[in-house]
Amino acid sequence: MIYLDNAATTKMFKGAVAVYEKYACQTFFNPSAGYDEAIKVSKDIDEAREKILKKLGVKGSVIFTSGATESNNIAIFGSKRNGKWEYVFSEGEHPSVYNVAKELESQGYIVHFIGLRKDGQVDYDQLLNCLNERTRLISTMHVSNETGAINNLKLIDEIRQQKCPKALFHVDGVQAFCKLEYNLSEYNVDLYTISAHKFCGPKGVGALYVKNTSSLKNITFGGGQEGGYRSGTENVGGIMAMGYAIDNYDTQANYIKVEKLKEEFVKEVSKDLKITILEGESPYILGLNLQGVNGETIMRALQDEGILVGIGSACSTKKAGNRVLNSMGYDINQIKSHIRISFIGDLKVEEVKDAGKKLVEVYNRIWENVK
Ligand code: PMP
Repeated sequence: MIYLDNAATTKMFKGAVAVYEKYACQTFFNPSAGYDEAIKVSKDIDEAREKILKKLGVKGSVIFTSGATESNNIAIFGSKRNGKWEYVFSEGEHPSVYNVAKELESQGYIVHFIGLRKDGQVDYDQLLNCLNERTRLISTMHVSNETGAINNLKLIDEIRQQKCPKALFHVDGVQAFCKLEYNLSEYNVDLYTISAHKFCGPKGVGALYVKNTSSLKNITFGGGQEGGYRSGTENVGGIMAMGYAIDNYDTQANYIKVEKLKEEFVKEVSKDLKITILEGESPYILGLNLQGVNGETIMRALQDEGILVGIGSACSTKKAGNRVLNSMGYDINQIKSHIRISFIGDLKVEEVKDAGKKLVEVYNRIWENVK
């Protein structure tokens, strides 16, 4: 099997599974308990917090969560305030941000959606025109899970400083963390979301970085764990396995490898002029439009050949159309013919080249029947 859907999830590091097992079966203590064994566990998860801060290059707090969906909910609902505040999102957001924005809107809050440019990045001119002194929160993703577009966080921060320096800046960093080399402190981000299963850690665990906790209110209530921002006993095994994945995911080496993989794959598929390659900058993600053929049909045909690809965000594959591509100016036929290829460093160049060849072959077979 050639797995090319690594933006949906990644295979866990074996070492991360071993770490999980240790904290599940040996040092399984509740970190909130008072005896020394539990205090040691509490210190261990604090070390995992430090790993996240260090990798991001920032100072502040880390709240452990059940994944990016929860982190995004805490960041957005936790930032809202009464009064005439405005909340700004992009059209390109993952449903775990976009649907929270829609919910805010339905509750009567003033919500703006910024469109995307043809290259998938946020339309910075629209953003400039939208922000004002009533803006409470700007929430944009770092790397698009659909297209691999990388938003210019430095520019967004500059626009914010110019128009609404007090507004909070939340970034969904799920497809960027561990995968790109950056220093978050350069962008003055207030809230940053990560999810372990995108970088070879376990599913169901993630974190929210918070620069200044006084900007945030808790949205759930309970025992007061995670500074009160996320009550409930921490997923210790998951957190420690995530820490292991951070330590063992070689960002630079993987980046160089996936750059090569993407290049080779693009070389293969661009031999067919009916295939449009989307511009996304991240080497991890490649969007393709396959003229005249439904993306789902291609996905299924490739599956029969032992190649697994995505047709957009796994969380929204059942939804008709695609809001993100629509915002980038693609028409409904292009949207229907979209597939997503996403790489990881342990793939072999030959595998990826074979997959590219197979894609062209499968596509043309189907094309002959539909044209
Ligand atoms: N944001 C982005 C950009 C994503 O790609 C995903 C996963 N598809 C999520 C949020 C949701 O992550 P999780 O599965 O950890 O809730």
